[in-house]
Amino acid sequence: MEIDNVMRLVRENIRNLAPYSTARDEYKGSIGAFLDANENPYNNGYNRYPDPRQRELKERLARLKGIDPSKIFIGNGSDEAIDLCVRIFCNPRLDNIVTIAPTYGMYRVAAAINDVRVREVPLGDDYSLPTAELLAACDENTKLMFICSPNNPTGNSFSVEQLRWLLEYFDGILVVDEAYIDFSSQPSVSSLLSEYDNLIVLQTLSKAYGLAALRLGLAFAHESIMQLFANVKYPYNINLAGMQRAAELLERNVRQEVEAIVAERRRVAEALAAIDCVQHVYPSDANFLLVRVDDARTVYNKLIEAEVIVRDRSGVPGCEGCLRITIGTPEENERLLQIMKG
Ligand SMILES: *Cc1c(COP(=O)(O)O)cnc(C)c1O
Repeated sequence: MEIDNVMRLVRENIRNLAPYSTARDEYKGSIGAFLDANENPYNNGYNRYPDPRQRELKERLARLKGIDPSKIFIGNGSDEAIDLCVRIFCNPRLDNIVTIAPTYGMYRVAAAINDVRVREVPLGDDYSLPTAELLAACDENTKLMFICSPNNPTGNSFSVEQLRWLLEYFDGILVVDEAYIDFSSQPSVSSLLSEYDNLIVLQTLSKAYGLAALRLGLAFAHESIMQLFANVKYPYNINLAGMQRAAELLERNVRQEVEAIVAERRRVAEALAAIDCVQHVYPSDANFLLVRVDDARTVYNKLIEAEVIVRDRSGVPGCEGCLRITIGTPEENERLLQIMKG
């Protein structure tokens, strides 16, 4: 889909929005005295408002990701980007979104908060992507389709070719949530951004980059979509301390950590599979394992008693009997395995 058609999907009030203009937006030269924003003039490092466009951090991320800064949005976690997608494209009580089940819970919550209906399509055998069923679930009010790949909580990823097929035939915006892409054997779909203007890719600094506490989520899309995100977000959604720490911490190489986690993922999966109460360990492209056990609640409680917390997903349709276990340090993983064996 071309950008002109994408813009027709935008809610009319958002398309016509006159965004809030910050004092600092209006002047770009060098400044002798900042008397425009009612700040305290005495310097303590944080007395000035931060850059609402986060230009420095975007330049850094642009180099890291090989994506032009004009195609990058930085949010207060991915959750901000998910909410903005819904608010920009979906008219409350009129439009709907389509997604898979089971999947990440925030798409449904963001839709519910905005009074937008959700159509959930169950994954196929082995958690495969039901592409034809997804398309069949859409109608003329389906603005967004959310696909999480690698998917949380199932751990598997979908091929770029399947996602390309959806981009070809879906008459709305495809949002691909790649929170776990750095742990995956599959490449990112961001390579398709130059071909499809109706693609939004979500990534995050919370998982592989190890910065969950800084709350920095990313979206990549056509610059016109990113401009809409900029118009609708709170002007100063990212604070200066977070941007500075992120810039510092992005200098370190996380590849070794990611490789260690992926190596542990394989070791833990094999060790789990050999434990009596374990029925099945699902293949994972993420930093967690979905594990079906004999009695999920009992295993969960046994782990809690030993002060190891995992996520009980046994009540989620499609995940009956399953726990979702994050890959920790080798010591943490060993502790988990010992308790599950005992
Ligand atoms: C963890 C996770 C995120 C990241 O959320 P942040 O708000 O960026 O921390 C996004 N999507 C999925 C599917 C996740 O599991």
